[in-house]
Amino acid sequence: MSATKFKRILLKLSGEALMGDGQFGIDPDTVARMAGEVKAAKDTGLEICLVIGGGNIFRGMAGAAKGMDRAQADYMGMLATVMNALAMQNALEQLGVTTRVQSAIQMDTVCEPVIRRRAERHLDKGRVVIFAAGVGSPYFTTDSGAALRAAEMKCDALLKGTSVDGVYDADPKNNPDAVRYQTLSFDRVLADNLRVMDASAVALCRDNDIPIVVFSIREQGNLASVLAGTGTSTIVETEGN
Ligand code: UDP
Repeated sequence: MSATKFKRILLKLSGEALMGDGQFGIDPDTVARMAGEVKAAKDTGLEICLVIGGGNIFRGMAGAAKGMDRAQADYMGMLATVMNALAMQNALEQLGVTTRVQSAIQMDTVCEPVIRRRAERHLDKGRVVIFAAGVGSPYFTTDSGAALRAAEMKCDALLKGTSVDGVYDADPKNNPDAVRYQTLSFDRVLADNLRVMDASAVALCRDNDIPIVVFSIREQGNLASVLAGTGTSTIVETEGN
């Protein structure tokens, strides 16, 4: 697989990528920097779908751990992803990148519902499409939302921007000898329970042959480098590709 051949990608950012140095919420400077990364990638001619998590605001599991009903807490988490999507839309449009938000939970006054054909039209017109509210159901995460939208929008790859530059055989933050994998098969990720994305998201990508590119979104210009084939990443793909 060569990242330089991609025409359309889905970029998944966790909500934490919008927090900056804070412990919580949305840092406008950080969102502006992320928007700059997206713009740089788009300026190379790529069509870009975006999914942003909500963990910087609310995670259903955290609510459930404190005694809330899990489904109710998950719906709150989905609403958090809509706030992040609107923040990113604002930042992208400040850079002159026309953007549409489509939410899996209908919210007609602030964004469109998810309509695949309409999303196609937006991409044709050079707009970035941000898919909010994950899959629209509790007991899922935005990783699964990202895999689902990557499949239905026929993206060439799912790029997962995280705080580390790939997948390691041990936690690189605690173990200086940890080794980064260059490539991994979907089956290995699932069998060894490697923490790339949720198992359901990995399985959906495997079944639809969508490679997952794990890279660090923290370093400036890294998304564009990875797409140009020069950046550091781990690629999860079908064995033998
Ligand atoms: N969520 C959900 N269904 C979905 C997507 C998200 O219930 O399809 C909820 C879930 O509670 C999750 C929260 O929204 O914890 C925020 O999403 P996620 O944890 O994936 O965000 P990230 O970790 O990427 O910031």
